[in-house]
Amino acid sequence: MDFKYIIVGAGLAGLTMAERIANELNEKVLVIEKRGHIGGNIYDSYNEDGILIHNYGPHIFHTNDRGVYEYLSNFTKWNDFWHRVLTYVDGNLIPMPITVETINKLYNLNLNCSQVEEFLNNQAVAIEEIKTSKDVALSKVGKDIYEKIFETYTKKQWGIDPSELDTSVISRIPIRLNRDTRYFNDKYQGMPTHGYTKMCEKMAANKNIKILLNTDYKEVIGQINYDVLIYTGATDEFYDYKHGKLSYRSINFVFETKDVEEYQQAPVVNYPNDYDYTRITEYKKLTEQKHNKTTIGKEFPCAEGEPYYPFPTKECKAQFALYEEEMKRESKVIFIGRLAEYRYYNMDAVVRRALDAFENLKSI
Ligand code: FAD
Ligand code: UDP
Repeated sequence: MDFKYIIVGAGLAGLTMAERIANELNEKVLVIEKRGHIGGNIYDSYNEDGILIHNYGPHIFHTNDRGVYEYLSNFTKWNDFWHRVLTYVDGNLIPMPITVETINKLYNLNLNCSQVEEFLNNQAVAIEEIKTSKDVALSKVGKDIYEKIFETYTKKQWGIDPSELDTSVISRIPIRLNRDTRYFNDKYQGMPTHGYTKMCEKMAANKNIKILLNTDYKEVIGQINYDVLIYTGATDEFYDYKHGKLSYRSINFVFETKDVEEYQQAPVVNYPNDYDYTRITEYKKLTEQKHNKTTIGKEFPCAEGEPYYPFPTKECKAQFALYEEEMKRESKVIFIGRLAEYRYYNMDAVVRRALDAFENLKSI
């Protein structure tokens, strides 16, 4: 079999590359996917009660990258959606991320914006060099808020102490000195009107794109002649684990359908201190679907299972650097995506990486 371009993985990275090659270069491309569906971790589907769920956890599109927003808008319309999260602390539901409302509810106060700034400045711990996620939180909000909101959630999510995690993890959560309770700051936010799978199907709807599902690329790659391999799977697997197995954090998603129209007050409720799960998502509140029942998803983080989160620690980065040396030497392979680059990328970053990689590919 001859294909100029082979793509391993039909997630967002792989499909963006496939779409660009098929449409702009008008070349044939074979996508090999080991799961039984396209979309990778953004895959969504209707469950037996007819409720649209995100099979691999809640996905909310948000970006400041106009190019990425416009690119994906070729394949979907967006519901005007601003994500909101509540967190369950000391028996109360309070807004996340930390805003003026959060501080007032947490301490039963009635401070204005500048008083909250002063309050947080008084709480903040002076740290000379911010090296870890724990330093980030302590230096911004102090010990009490760190312990109530970040410490145990992070231990549950990652299985290690925040003092062992890179600064980037807790830095994902903004601290706001105003009353804006939206979860994300980004200019463009939304949910695909008909879901992520429909968006992915449109990306793949080109006769130049052939998709082989339920197939590990290693089973077939020896029988295919190709010029370029675009690889979006795990890098350690690509190199047969020669520098050891990379660590990932996995999640066990447990779905429950309730015979009520509404389950909770926000699309996502975080549980930093109580219960073994980190958060509960009520999917109808993301998708705006109308239904007389509702499906919720609980997230139980775990060490074994599908590799969802690359581990942002010093040791893991050092181990990945050994693979990066190998990757640089490849002349026919392009590595992109959350698994292949071992980075905690959001969807927009993955699409940006793929669009940029495509521009490079065109120029060689
Ligand atoms: P993937 O989606 O992992 O796709 C890689 C594909 O390669 C998979 O389908 C896999 O089966 C396939 N593959 C791997 N190995 C092989 C092989 N050997 N042979 C064949 N196929 C193979 N981002 C946001 O922007 N907003 C959010 O709200 C958000 N929420 C998230 C929540 C959770 C719980 C998780 C885990 C991630 C979240 N993300 C979110 C991140 C988002 O899921 C990723 O950025 C994006 O899906 C990554 O796309 P990808 O193509 O790089 O990887
Ligand atoms: N986090 C936390 N408490 C919260 C929410 C988040 O401690 O209530 C920390 C935790 O370490 C988490 C990180 O902030 O892994 C990033 O949170 P985000 O909501 O971005 O995680 P994701 O949606 O990527 O799982």
